[in-house]
Amino acid sequence: NRQIILAKRPEGMPDESNLVLQEGAVPECGDGQVLVRTIYLSLDPYMRGRMSAAKSYAASVEEGAVMEGGTVGQVVESRHPDFNQGDYVLGRGGWQEYSVEQGKALRKLDPAQAPISTAVGVLGMPGFTAYAGLEEIGKPQKGETVVVSAAAGAVGQVVGQIAKMKGCRVVGVAGAEDKCRQVVEAYGFDACVNYKDDDFEKQLAEACPNGIDVYFENVGGKVFDAVMGLVNDFARIPVCGRIAHYNDTGLPPGPDRLPAFMGKILVKRLLLKGFIQFDYIHRAADFQRDMSAWIREGKVKYQEDVVEGLENTVSAFQGLLQGKNRGKLLIQVGED
Ligand code: NDP
Repeated sequence: NRQIILAKRPEGMPDESNLVLQEGAVPECGDGQVLVRTIYLSLDPYMRGRMSAAKSYAASVEEGAVMEGGTVGQVVESRHPDFNQGDYVLGRGGWQEYSVEQGKALRKLDPAQAPISTAVGVLGMPGFTAYAGLEEIGKPQKGETVVVSAAAGAVGQVVGQIAKMKGCRVVGVAGAEDKCRQVVEAYGFDACVNYKDDDFEKQLAEACPNGIDVYFENVGGKVFDAVMGLVNDFARIPVCGRIAHYNDTGLPPGPDRLPAFMGKILVKRLLLKGFIQFDYIHRAADFQRDMSAWIREGKVKYQEDVVEGLENTVSAFQGLLQGKNRGKLLIQVGED
């Protein structure tokens, strides 16, 4: 059972000295449990937080433990009445080839309904994040301008497509020309701006002639600063992620801009609300119904970036923190 353990907490960008591939035993399956062979491992930005000891909304992974992660796999042995050998399941098997999970924590997947990989992508946690954050906090109205950062990624691509369906002007922000092209051509955004361009602020202002009513925040950093210069009165900002800061080891150098920022929140009467997708778990059934229909009807498109082999997980995860992924990042751990 090849597995990747968190050997040592990273400072800055994690690498193979922090995340070590080792051979472990295939775990024993107890009563009520299921032994699962991993097919897809989902790689997600939140994993950087789990590697850190800093207090957060979920406990850190212990040093020496297998890294956590959402997985799609196939049942090898079941000691739970709801599962049989060969069933496809969604679980949290982590960065390894075989895992034992409580049957009650698994969800059975029907490969006839949708490709099984989508259970950790557009029909899973990232898709739900987009849906919940936009509907519950962003509340975009017809004719408004919605901006989303990390626009070509797992969450961003879905945010923009839902906002388009609601009749908004949708502007993406991404870090590469091909990503910007894809966001406009494949996902139907009205415009997409590359934040790495020298005149990014100017391009963003031109793409948002009526200002910004909803900003779906995925990154922080210079994108957030540029957006704040363009927000309209009563703008809503679902604070979903801050990936530009996940490898930070300290505060940025001054000057302290917090008073100016608080002033802007007051004068513009902004709503900024942080959320973790599970806060809206009561909307999960609505999401499954709506998103399945949108995919079936071709209203929502998606792209997955599948990297072969557990041994490539660490470099793929580094790539995710550097924008190398093209769509929802998955590791193909075993055959499907
Ligand atoms: P993506 O598929 O979007 O991949 C991450 C992308 O982030 C990269 O491809 C890169 O795109 C961008 N990025 C990386 N570094 C920077 C940087 N320094 N500045 C700007 N952009 C950067 O990941 P997800 O869609 O899975 O996640 C997107 C965000 O949503 C993350 O912040 C994540 O933490 C958050 N999230 C929050 C959840 C919640 O419950 N609150 C749940 C799920 C995700 P580019 O080339 O454009 O730079």
